[in-house]
Amino acid sequence: METLDCVVAGAGVVGLAIARRLALAGREVVILEAAGAFGEGTSSRNSEVIHAGIYYAAGSLMARLCVPGRDALYAYCAERGVEARACGKLIVATSEEEAAKLPAIMERAAANGVTDLRALTAEEARAMEPALATHGALLSPSTGIIDSHAYMLSLLGDAENAGAVLALNSPVLGGRASEEGIVLDVGGDDPMTVRCRLFVNSAGLHAPALARRIEGLPGDTIPTARYAKGSYFSLAGKAPFSRLIYPVPVPGGLGVHLTLDMAGQARFGPDVEWVDEPGYDVDPARAEKFYGAVRRYWPDLKDGALAPAYAGIRPKIVPPEIATQDFMIQGPQVHGVPGLVNLFGIESPGLTASLAIADHVMEVAA
Ligand SMILES: Cc1cc2nc3c(=O)[nH]c(=O)nc-3n(C[C@H](O)[C@H](O)[C@H](O)COP(=O)(O)OP(=O)(O)OC[C@H]3O[C@@H](n4cnc5c(N)ncnc54)[C@H](O)[C@@H]3O)c2cc1C
Repeated sequence: METLDCVVAGAGVVGLAIARRLALAGREVVILEAAGAFGEGTSSRNSEVIHAGIYYAAGSLMARLCVPGRDALYAYCAERGVEARACGKLIVATSEEEAAKLPAIMERAAANGVTDLRALTAEEARAMEPALATHGALLSPSTGIIDSHAYMLSLLGDAENAGAVLALNSPVLGGRASEEGIVLDVGGDDPMTVRCRLFVNSAGLHAPALARRIEGLPGDTIPTARYAKGSYFSLAGKAPFSRLIYPVPVPGGLGVHLTLDMAGQARFGPDVEWVDEPGYDVDPARAEKFYGAVRRYWPDLKDGALAPAYAGIRPKIVPPEIATQDFMIQGPQVHGVPGLVNLFGIESPGLTASLAIADHVMEVAA
């Protein structure tokens, strides 16, 4: 049986960032991807926002990895010519009651190391974005947008230049822990069994299912996979805002917000719909709720202006009644299996934090 040094399952943005990091550290790396192309999962079905790091629970992995990940991502994009822009975001209060919540958001942000938020009066916010209806806002200058496909392409290029190999149509079916490393059964057109010294399970939505198929891994360390779908609607015509516009968060979500892509096209979303199985169709009827939510901060939204766009699925590892979750990144210290790292629940801000997650995996794997 062939013995490899490192195998990464999953060529999403996180798997690619990890593969790059391992390859740059001089490790031999094979990336096994079930699909016929990289980055076709959650990594191409998100808002493409570089998050500042405002809301996460103090001390959580999300809080600890978002800010350094954000800084590393901006620096990486500048160095590599990947399109990214710190266009800024406004968190908008649409009532006096919501305005009273803004100082607490500023405090939480500061606890996470996000110290550049600026409180704006309604007049100041409208001077920046005249179409806005607001009772006051926070400006986050370090929030931005990124061309996530170009970013993934660049990560893959770095990894390949450092010797990594990407194998497409190569699902990891399962495996087992052995004295000499992790043995993996790989399916696809050319099925094979390989052994590796380090196996990183970065299979996104399917990471818990894959972990369950690794013999020797204690089942009680593996969370139950749940899926929270987020649908997006695009706006016909010119974007009414030049910054990202977010309402004050509601329990369980960030609210229906407006993001922009690199071409300046506006889209609204994602909403939250718990589903039993991943599926990406967008139900046009969901637009109804979007109109109401968006008109609270943009009253001029015209009937019929929203068109179904796309959907993504949040890889949840907590049930709907629990409002927050954290990244779960487990190495041998947690599950006791040498040479195995599992990544579970890598939802937002996984894109922003990807480079910092890769650094963290290096520590966890050691
Ligand atoms: C609606 C939505 C909006 C978001 N918005 C943002 C945002 O604006 N900013 C931000 O920072 N983050 C955002 N995120 C989070 C971000 O998109 C994810 O954290 C990130 O894309 C996760 O990347 P990944 O590589 O872990 O997973 P994925 O991109 O899902 O990649 C996993 C890969 O594993 C492959 N795979 C699965 N099973 C196997 C197997 N058995 N063998 C081999 N390969 C396998 C899949 O085919 C897939 O390619 C958002 C997420 C959602 C759902």
